[in-house]
Amino acid sequence: MNLDLLKQILAVPTCSRQEQRMVEFLVEHVRQRGVDRCGEIISDEWNNVFIRKGRVEHFPCVAAHIDTVQPLRCVEIIQKDGSLIGMDKQGQRTGIGGDDKAGVFVCLELLERFENIAVALFASEEIGCIGAKHAPATWFEDVGYIIEFDCPGRGLVSYTSSGERLFANDGEFIQTAAPVLQVHGLTRWQRHPFTDVMALRQRFDFSCLNLSCGYHNWHRSDEYVVVEEVEAAVNAGEALISALGSRSYPFAPGASDLAAPLYEVTGLQVNGISELQPEISQPNQEPVPNPQSQGSHANRYAQTNHPTT
Ligand SMILES: [Zn+2]
Repeated sequence: MNLDLLKQILAVPTCSRQEQRMVEFLVEHVRQRGVDRCGEIISDEWNNVFIRKGRVEHFPCVAAHIDTVQPLRCVEIIQKDGSLIGMDKQGQRTGIGGDDKAGVFVCLELLERFENIAVALFASEEIGCIGAKHAPATWFEDVGYIIEFDCPGRGLVSYTSSGERLFANDGEFIQTAAPVLQVHGLTRWQRHPFTDVMALRQRFDFSCLNLSCGYHNWHRSDEYVVVEEVEAAVNAGEALISALGSRSYPFAPGASDLAAPLYEVTGLQVNGISELQPEISQPNQEPVPNPQSQGSHANRYAQTNHPTT
């Protein structure tokens, strides 16, 4: 894994509606690495970035968002044991936007591990998935499925995002993915606040996943990224794409899928600063805010991740 690249990405200032520096960084990186390693990169008027490498009827696609909630300013990235933290110019601890720059890094690593792969990096996720909602539909015509990396910590898998189902319970997509997720310790199924796959599922009929990528204390000044967990996300992504292959796994919008959930699904609950403590919920339960999360970080997570309008 290219740790230097991870540090470089974490150091790029970017926030919602002001992702230009990240767009420039990504375009420069991909062009420098060359078409053979990284394919072709384009960006659109929303600051979304799209990369396509190889030639195949249906592309596996990985995704992340390039905006953060952190202020737009330079951050020094410091490695402390196995974690990366951010310091500002005054030497104060500051957020590094691991949410979701860690996910962006995972996508770039996976880009170089496959001959046929697509990468979608969305702008302005944090203010309501603006980039994903406006991304050009034509770009997704040959996308077979999407794996997004925008869950905190390790081991988390989104069952739903803002109540939107990401895959059919009894479909081939999850039947193929589930054993791989299990092997890679991605076993904590959650109903998550929104991220881009929610918006994509509302627009397109492919199956999606959203997985942990190693960031902690998201949206806070003491945010940090655990290198080992980022690497685990890259390895899980590689194994998933190898298993799922270059093919299409449709899940039509509004498709009736009455099969019971395959897994125990929990709400996202956070105890203390960074510990994630899943709470068991009943099968088929409607996604509701966790009653015990009043005033907790989980509640703030939900608030800050939902559009206010
Ligand atoms: Zn995020």
